[in-house]
Amino acid sequence: MSRYTDPKCRICRRQGAKLFLKGPRCYSDKCAMEKKPFPPGAHRGSRRRLSNYGLQLKEKQRVRFMYGITESQFRNYFEKAARLPGVTGENLLSLLERRLDNVVFRAGWSDSRPDARQMVLHGHFVVNGRKVNIPSYLVDEGDVVEISSRGKKHKKIKEIMEEERPSLPAWLVAGEDGKVTVLRHPQREDIDYSVEEQLIVEFYSK
Ligand code: SF4
Repeated sequence: MSRYTDPKCRICRRQGAKLFLKGPRCYSDKCAMEKKPFPPGAHRGSRRRLSNYGLQLKEKQRVRFMYGITESQFRNYFEKAARLPGVTGENLLSLLERRLDNVVFRAGWSDSRPDARQMVLHGHFVVNGRKVNIPSYLVDEGDVVEISSRGKKHKKIKEIMEEERPSLPAWLVAGEDGKVTVLRHPQREDIDYSVEEQLIVEFYSK
């Protein structure tokens, strides 16, 4: 399945949840989920009751759209998570958080994950001194991420750098030089959005 190209707010309305795909707009009263919190094409209050399978599918889709990845990529993450020691659902969330585009978003260098993905694709970030333009690149313990010299001239990044930086999750630490170091792999308690990962595990375990 290819990447979903419908308008971002439509994805939220279809999922019935705010996925924060449009930066500051998501926190304002312009958010489509505030104005029209029902599925596109449906009438107010017309959400159906979901079966167990429907709930599992919905949770999987919500997390997949939040990170902006395709179905096949998401399944690959799940299979990798299942092979790792520990709890599969927690491993899955940890792998998703370790994506470079997510690290750029978490570090406060972009307003949203879709923007972070674009910036990474354009080569605006450097990991351990080397340019990395692969959004799915998985950061590891001790990796140092920074904005490239070209990225520092990018209008949007410059604007964001002038704003106060949001607090970083506990697995990332910002240095005085603006670089961000990965202290450790993210753990379940570092996930700051509500998610029932067990539903996703059940979806793929059928
Ligand atoms: Fe989703 Fe953001 Fe659009 Fe609101 S503004 S519907 S949170 S993408």
